[in-house]
Amino acid sequence: MHMMFRDWEEAYRGVPPWDIGRPQPAIEALVHDREILPGKVLDVGCGTGENALLLARHGSEVTGIDLVEEAVKAARAKAAERHVAASFAVGNALDLDQLFGEGSFDTVIDSGLFHALSDEERPVYARQVGWALRPGGGYFALCFSDKEPGDWGPRRISRRELEETFGGLFRINYIKETHFLSHAPNGRPQAYLLSATK
Ligand code: SAH
Repeated sequence: MHMMFRDWEEAYRGVPPWDIGRPQPAIEALVHDREILPGKVLDVGCGTGENALLLARHGSEVTGIDLVEEAVKAARAKAAERHVAASFAVGNALDLDQLFGEGSFDTVIDSGLFHALSDEERPVYARQVGWALRPGGGYFALCFSDKEPGDWGPRRISRRELEETFGGLFRINYIKETHFLSHAPNGRPQAYLLSATK
């Protein structure tokens, strides 16, 4: 399923299945395991900001961007309510070179964005993430995996597709099997967690 902008906007009129009101456990584990250390972080496709706010609470200077203004507004409201400093803006993950200087971030996180991109968008996105990261910076992506049965939800991603998309521009550290938490019928869908270094 390739979601167009209007579909994303529509999703936020209700509570989308991914919008669980807490960070993804796989992202929490990256903080706990000190794989993401305090620094400048970009959360691409940040949604209503739970992962971004988690990293901000752990000392990072976080920017979250999302296509959907409603999501960005909700993220800002949470930041204000929780007294957490983080900035959120409407922006397209395929235009990072228009939004940020080259090498602006130590870390880029992507929870549920990559699996929504079309085949044509994937290499563009990889280059854009590469632009935003400093040399040695880390990219972490959580995506639906091909271990998840059925066809509900986003496209399934294989290890090979992750390697093909990111292997040229990044060093791939690992691709681990994990889960998303969601409100979906299959509440804990199988996911891959990619760790890559520019
Ligand atoms: N990271 C959030 C949201 C995941 S859903 C979370 O874990 O809860 C994917 C998000 O990516 C949606 O909020 C959608 O609006 C956003 N999105 C989709 N395409 C995008 C693009 N090209 N640029 C920026 N955001 C995008």
